[in-house]
Amino acid sequence: MADIQSSCAYCGVGCGLTISHYSSQTLAESNLSLTLKGDSSHPANFGHLCAKGEKLLLSLEQPNTLRYPKLRSGKPLDWDAATRLIADKFQQTIQQHGPDSVALYLSGQLLTEDYYVANKFAKGYLKTANVDTNSRLCMSSAVSAMQRAFGEDVVPGCYQDFEQAEVIVLIGANTAWTHPVLFQRILAAKQTNGCKLVVIDPISTATAKQADLHLAVCPGADLRLFVGLLGYLADNHCLNHKYIQNHTEGFETVVDNAQRVSGCLATLADALGVSKIELIEFYHLFSSSKKVLTASCQGVNQSVIGTDTTNAIINCHLALGQVGQEGAGFFSLTGQPNAMGGREVGGLATQLASHMGFSEQEQALLSDFWQCGHVATKPGLAAVEMFDAVAKGNIKAIWIMGTNPVVSLPESDKIAQALSDCPFVVVSEVSPDSDTAKLADVLLPAQGWSEKCGTVTNSERCITRQRGFIAPKGQAKPDWWALSQVAINMGFSGFDYPNNAAIFSEFALLSQTVNQAFPHKRFNLGGLAGLTKAQYDTLPPTQWPVTTQQQIGQQHQRVFADAQFSTSSGKAQFIAPANSFEALNHHEVNSLHRKPLTLLLNSGRSRDQWHTMTRTGHIASLRANVPEPTLSLHSRLLKPFKLVAGELAQIQSATGSSFSLARVLVDDDLPTNLANMSMHWSEQFSLTKGVNQAIDSRFDPVSKQPGFKCQPVRLLPV
Ligand code: SF4
Repeated sequence: MADIQSSCAYCGVGCGLTISHYSSQTLAESNLSLTLKGDSSHPANFGHLCAKGEKLLLSLEQPNTLRYPKLRSGKPLDWDAATRLIADKFQQTIQQHGPDSVALYLSGQLLTEDYYVANKFAKGYLKTANVDTNSRLCMSSAVSAMQRAFGEDVVPGCYQDFEQAEVIVLIGANTAWTHPVLFQRILAAKQTNGCKLVVIDPISTATAKQADLHLAVCPGADLRLFVGLLGYLADNHCLNHKYIQNHTEGFETVVDNAQRVSGCLATLADALGVSKIELIEFYHLFSSSKKVLTASCQGVNQSVIGTDTTNAIINCHLALGQVGQEGAGFFSLTGQPNAMGGREVGGLATQLASHMGFSEQEQALLSDFWQCGHVATKPGLAAVEMFDAVAKGNIKAIWIMGTNPVVSLPESDKIAQALSDCPFVVVSEVSPDSDTAKLADVLLPAQGWSEKCGTVTNSERCITRQRGFIAPKGQAKPDWWALSQVAINMGFSGFDYPNNAAIFSEFALLSQTVNQAFPHKRFNLGGLAGLTKAQYDTLPPTQWPVTTQQQIGQQHQRVFADAQFSTSSGKAQFIAPANSFEALNHHEVNSLHRKPLTLLLNSGRSRDQWHTMTRTGHIASLRANVPEPTLSLHSRLLKPFKLVAGELAQIQSATGSSFSLARVLVDDDLPTNLANMSMHWSEQFSLTKGVNQAIDSRFDPVSKQPGFKCQPVRLLPV
């Protein structure tokens, strides 16, 4: 049969895949009859894949898959009984305690169609905006910053910009490991165009080792670095005054403070932990190049000042008039394959579908479109707040889909306790073995990658069809279908979708309707509204905004190149940091001197693993490099912490309340105030709890994204 084109399940690069069957079956019963390679026609990867992507078929050989709905006792249920039970429990809970006593916690693994139905169900019909997603842990600081600066959650650029830039600045991003195929494009551009690569990271990562300039700034110092850069641009007469004057607002609110910071570069360099020569080299490269592209990832986002830091970066690009230009601007690297698709349909608790907020006009439009009376009237609880509410007993019924918060959220031991105590927990999953699935009162078998069909949107706003190519195992169903059945059982209309194509078409029509009412918004899928199922099934990768059918298949589109932004004035906004620099004087670093045995911990992805390893932990070839949790630190730290290379260390939270274990590795490339550890491990795949036990729950006040990085912890020998 014909090859099937789909997309990778792992990261926001969104590589296209070609899956070939060498059996004659319509849908293979076993992946043994399949081969997979990169899709040479896909604009994200042009046929290339990374090691994880190449081994995707091995991820299907899960040791244990969930094949039918079941209760915590193990008693099987049929789908009808399961969805009626969920409908009854949610209905009773809302009747007794109000709409905000229930919640949905979603995942960047869901397809846009799943996300859309979940949001319609909760925000439209349950009347609660308690719908958040693990994307909150990933890029919500970038979202908030783009909303503040541009008026909308829009990544202006595209991947082609990485090939057209004169200078690429990667900040808080180990792209070589986390977005490998895009990094290969960057390295190729370096070779062919001679573009300069600057990496800003406290750690000498695999990415930093390829940089022309590595600025190993102190953890948490990136905000000051970019505020200083704006001051340097002003000090050295590099500003694009015409652009600032005609297309932005608020410059005067940021420039004085910026020039105070850049006033003495020696003092600034000292505060940043770099040499003055390195600092000037970076500032000179940035200010003297016509095309600078800055891409940020979790090192910026997962910080309690992540939104301000991202705005400080955007401020510099606005000051040069470099937003949405070829090879220039700000780019947010997204962690998950469909984090952006989730945002489009209102996957975050703080927004409504199609990039709408909670104004009365926006509520009215959505209520009318969904014919649901009224939608939720205020933002719901973001991830950390949501599970706090579960712990406090304020949320009494929660449905978790395709994610493992018991491992992935900070202070994760509290999450397990909260779910254990919660009166009603539903988990939709592929496998019953995740730490979260084990706490479900009702466990629903979800179709996984390879089985389900729908769309995802990658970091460059490109929508790609994900297509099923094996028969669903057992009674596994799409998440949108399970949600719709519960909605129908609760008596709600508008959920009798015949297929995923109908859901996508409805969403595209909504985006068109929103765009007609709010023409300054740039998100628009109007050209995809009314697609037939056949057109949807053959939809080629298409970048939004797509306003007409003629634009289907378009690529390399930039937004805001016309300097018309989505704000009410049409002008981009310079944003000043909320805190003064005196208050931002790296309080974690300073506090270290007062707490014995305390060090800053950085946690992040390792090259070959994915999230909490539920999809990759059983693949021997991916575990071969790093078979157990490891903690890397500089050899000079061994003695003061009484640690021995090769032995185990205990990583405790700063309060000493909980800990995990890891084997000590020496890495003299690391700074002497920072240890580094993978975020992936949990008791499911090792003998110890995950590192997030030791991570505190503080979050950015604007984006509500937890500050996973730069955490003070205690290290003890075992
Ligand atoms: Fe998959 Fe990302 Fe690797 Fe591409 S770069 S193959 S999307 S994990």
